[in-house]
Amino acid sequence: MMSLNQVCPYCDITKINKDIVSVDHLLPKASFPVLSIFPDNLIVVCKACNEVIKGETIYLPIAHPCYEEVSRHFTFVIKENNNNKFTIEIATNSKNSKLINQKIYNFIKLFKIIDRYEKYMTAELQDYRTAVRTPNKCVFIELGQLTLLPPNLLLKRLFHSKFQPCFSY
Ligand SMILES: [Zn+2]
Repeated sequence: MMSLNQVCPYCDITKINKDIVSVDHLLPKASFPVLSIFPDNLIVVCKACNEVIKGETIYLPIAHPCYEEVSRHFTFVIKENNNNKFTIEIATNSKNSKLINQKIYNFIKLFKIIDRYEKYMTAELQDYRTAVRTPNKCVFIELGQLTLLPPNLLLKRLFHSKFQPCFSY
């Protein structure tokens, strides 16, 4: 039995606990009834991913989060526009095969990863930018470096360990 003290393998945002857990049929049972009780098609995820966002939708081919570490195959590119808003684009790794890229793009599209990360990261990044620009404060990473972090590390920085500005006075 999978531990419930984990982060959702689809979005990598929501911590899973018994109140917000959901079991998804990655390949929807309406389209793939033969896989409806196949263990590898049953994935413990957050309710937002399964019940609000995905439902019975699927795009194929798609990455399976238990077989492929999705976040290893792309990088978030964070851009700041003229309105001081952050937008996110995806850069797939140059070594990826065409098939992997299709799987990754479908995964990102299905789980609305870009919209969700833009929404969740904007406030954090604006706070972070303010901290970077405030005199007498130093932070342990520069904003520019964030754009090159793999998504799992970026998330750890932004959500799980939070920024830890150190004060120079
Ligand atoms: Zn999720």
